[in-house]
Amino acid sequence: MVSYSESKWRRFFWRLPKFLQDTAASLYGWHLDSKIFNGYYRKTYKFLEESQWHSADKLRDYQGRQLISFLRYAVKNVPYYRDYFARQSLTVEDIRTVDDLKLFPLLDKETVRFNADRLIAEPYRKRTSQVVNVHTSGTTGKGLHLKLSKEAFQREYAFRYLHLSWAGIKPNMKMAFFAGHPVTPPERLSPPFWAEDKINKRIYFSSQHITNATLPIYIDKLKEFKPELIRGYPSSVYLIGVGILEHGAKGVSPKAVFTNSETLLGYQREVIERAFSCKVFDWYGNTEQVANIVECERGNRHVKAEHSFVEFLKQDGMPAKPGELAEMVCTGFGNYAMPLIRYRVGDMAVLSDRGCSCGRNDLIVDKIVGRVEDIVVTPDGRHVGRLDHLFKDMLNVKEAQIVQEMIEELKIRIVKRKGFNDKDLQLLEKEARLRLGNSIRFQFEFVDHLEREPSGKLRFVISRIPRDAQVIF
Ligand SMILES: [Zn+2]
Repeated sequence: MVSYSESKWRRFFWRLPKFLQDTAASLYGWHLDSKIFNGYYRKTYKFLEESQWHSADKLRDYQGRQLISFLRYAVKNVPYYRDYFARQSLTVEDIRTVDDLKLFPLLDKETVRFNADRLIAEPYRKRTSQVVNVHTSGTTGKGLHLKLSKEAFQREYAFRYLHLSWAGIKPNMKMAFFAGHPVTPPERLSPPFWAEDKINKRIYFSSQHITNATLPIYIDKLKEFKPELIRGYPSSVYLIGVGILEHGAKGVSPKAVFTNSETLLGYQREVIERAFSCKVFDWYGNTEQVANIVECERGNRHVKAEHSFVEFLKQDGMPAKPGELAEMVCTGFGNYAMPLIRYRVGDMAVLSDRGCSCGRNDLIVDKIVGRVEDIVVTPDGRHVGRLDHLFKDMLNVKEAQIVQEMIEELKIRIVKRKGFNDKDLQLLEKEARLRLGNSIRFQFEFVDHLEREPSGKLRFVISRIPRDAQVIF
């Protein structure tokens, strides 16, 4: 499919006059929809509408059968797994139960990068028309190039639209995106900071141009567009929310806000829900399509069993109990073009032992702690995640970022609001000490704004501590 994020398309797009940019956005929307809303999408969506209410046993049974056929297929058709099984003197007949997933090695991103070709299933090697090429952004700039089957591509959107339906959102509703679409050249200071697809009623805003000066322009455009859904990076939607609260703007009242691609921080959720007077639904997934963990109307995060099989593992590789910090190791069983088995997505989570009162019987995740790299390590051996809690009651902090370059010191970058004073700083230090102890130094840095990644995302924690010093088994 056309990826207009590629640099030559991007430059071409930026040179177009505004009305042609909007036309290009419509073509993009039309092209995307024509890939999504096909037979397999409809079939999957219909199935999910029913299966979401299945009993835990029935879901587990379905998941187990899907997983076993997927594993068997991989050993038969994927050179990387066929060779691995041969080396271990195993055959496809050794895969009989869900537990046999353990016969497979863990798979990390570097291994995928170096074995990309051998991970492609033979039935899809020559059938390029049956394959969609995608790439992951990668926080360190080293993304992965992956192949998805057309069915997997449609299936993933069926899961997305099922999730949207939990907030009453339908595909033909008006949607505003703040998800890093490169619609505006980085150096431009004047509007428009968006491209509008008038045919499909979607507007794509730039995530990189939201500043104090441009906020009123963004808000005016949102008021004019009147989205029924706002979807995007929590850090971008949060800034818009701050602007709406500060300017007392009325008239932007979506049915819901859906966040994705970054860990949704507590203070961001609070501001977004207040600014837009609606609920935030957080979505956790990835381009690799190996997990789908979605927040329901009751605020619980459901691990969708029809989508994939997620293992929650402790440092020693053993299954984590509810309440324990765990690394997610994921096997999505939808993509038969390039199976990724026991894939280390690099995110940590804590399983819950509760069910959910919404009536859906999935496993529930209490929290997603974020990337393994988002964990701060202290000289006395603590591993601390979710440091956004430091800023929960700090009304005078607009945004913050934590940088760890060495184990002895933590830099805390802060964008102040007008009222910020010494008391705030003392409170912040006290809260940080409570969580991180006395073995680490703090260095506070006050800045006007926080740099976004080229993708438009904001990284809340930047850690340059080697991975082997972190919570990795
Ligand atoms: Zn629920």
